[in-house]
Amino acid sequence: MKASKETICLTGGYRPGQGEPRQVPIIQSTTFKYDTSDAMGKLFDLEAAGYFYTRLQNPTNDHVAQKICDLEGGYAAMLTSSGQAANFYAIFNICECGDHFIASSSIYGGTYNLFGVTMKKMGIECTFVDNDITPEELDKVFRPNTKAVFGETITNPTVSIFDIDKFAKAAHEHGVPLIMDNTFATPINCCPFEFGCDIVTHSTTKYMDGHSVGVGGCIVDSGNFDWMAHKEKFPGLTTPDESYHGIVYAEKFGKAAYITKATSQLMRDFGSIQSPMNAFYLNVSLESLAVRMARHCSSALKVAKFLESQDKVAWVRYADLESSPDHALQQKYCPKGTCGVIAFAVKGGREAAIRFMDSLHFAFIETHVADAKTALLHPASHTHRQMSDEQLREAGVEPDLIRFSVGLEDPGDIIADLKQALEKL
Ligand SMILES: *Cc1c(COP(=O)(O)O)cnc(C)c1O
Repeated sequence: MKASKETICLTGGYRPGQGEPRQVPIIQSTTFKYDTSDAMGKLFDLEAAGYFYTRLQNPTNDHVAQKICDLEGGYAAMLTSSGQAANFYAIFNICECGDHFIASSSIYGGTYNLFGVTMKKMGIECTFVDNDITPEELDKVFRPNTKAVFGETITNPTVSIFDIDKFAKAAHEHGVPLIMDNTFATPINCCPFEFGCDIVTHSTTKYMDGHSVGVGGCIVDSGNFDWMAHKEKFPGLTTPDESYHGIVYAEKFGKAAYITKATSQLMRDFGSIQSPMNAFYLNVSLESLAVRMARHCSSALKVAKFLESQDKVAWVRYADLESSPDHALQQKYCPKGTCGVIAFAVKGGREAAIRFMDSLHFAFIETHVADAKTALLHPASHTHRQMSDEQLREAGVEPDLIRFSVGLEDPGDIIADLKQALEKL
């Protein structure tokens, strides 16, 4: 029976049988027992499906990954130890030394560094492009060795919106998949697969966990990208894997090829798996995701409207506001609302921003974002403090930008807190 996302949050990924635990059990075991040597051998040849070692796969994780997969409308999914691991695996699963990919420059700073600095050391080159690039300009960025396009549904920290349609069309014209980090929107507010995206990643650390409990990540594959139609571009999926007696993932596993390869090669060799205990916590949080996202959005809109009305506020960026230049994209991709994160600035630059932040009572200064508790950060003073104002602008982060993540407290209290801090300026 088809279920809405609100229902999948509670019922997805796990259905207990007669007399079995109602809640997803924590399988806190590194290893799994087999009756015969042959039964175990088949697992290592990928001839049979089953668990043998938690560095690769664990049943608790798989129940939770399946729930996220159902929410995204995907075909297969896996959990990773962090959002960073998810984004690294998502690209590295189809890019090797000598390959190239394209990424939006409006992405999370950690991902920017991973793509621009660390993966470069592995011989994988990334070209960053502006979100507002024209299709003609975008077309020119592709090279014969380009293997993927990457973007973030709603960017952290500048909260602008990625035009999925435009980037999906360009990627498909060049025979490569569009991969998107859907962390801020969550599948409650946007399902990128509906607009042509092929693979989605998450930092589950943010709204999915939502209670600042556990770091984690997830990769979901739509199963829609036809690797065999672009055989020469993706040899890792379309030619024999010598480490598994010559199986060809795209032939043997069809729509599950991409996730099977990421599990059996990347998890096997790098081991960035989420602990079953953290997957359990994540699942408990997922049960309330739809309810929480609706509240985050309604409160953030109230806060954004309040900020917009204040003389001491220099500017506000929140796509749900009708005044936002991204409002049309919000209506198209996230019609229920974007998320609880707002970017804004107070008049008076860095110094005023610091004074304002230090005066808040309920909103805490934290690196974290997208949490049940209101949190804020001034990138120029914190995450990006080594950069000059000019370098910040080049990275698309205004020196006065405050990232304000609206939590689940009474929105009246959050607004009163902002008001008293603004009065101190
Ligand atoms: C936090 C974040 C990441 C990195 O995730 P971790 O779980 O911290 O490793 C990636 N993408 C986005 C959009 C994020 O906000």
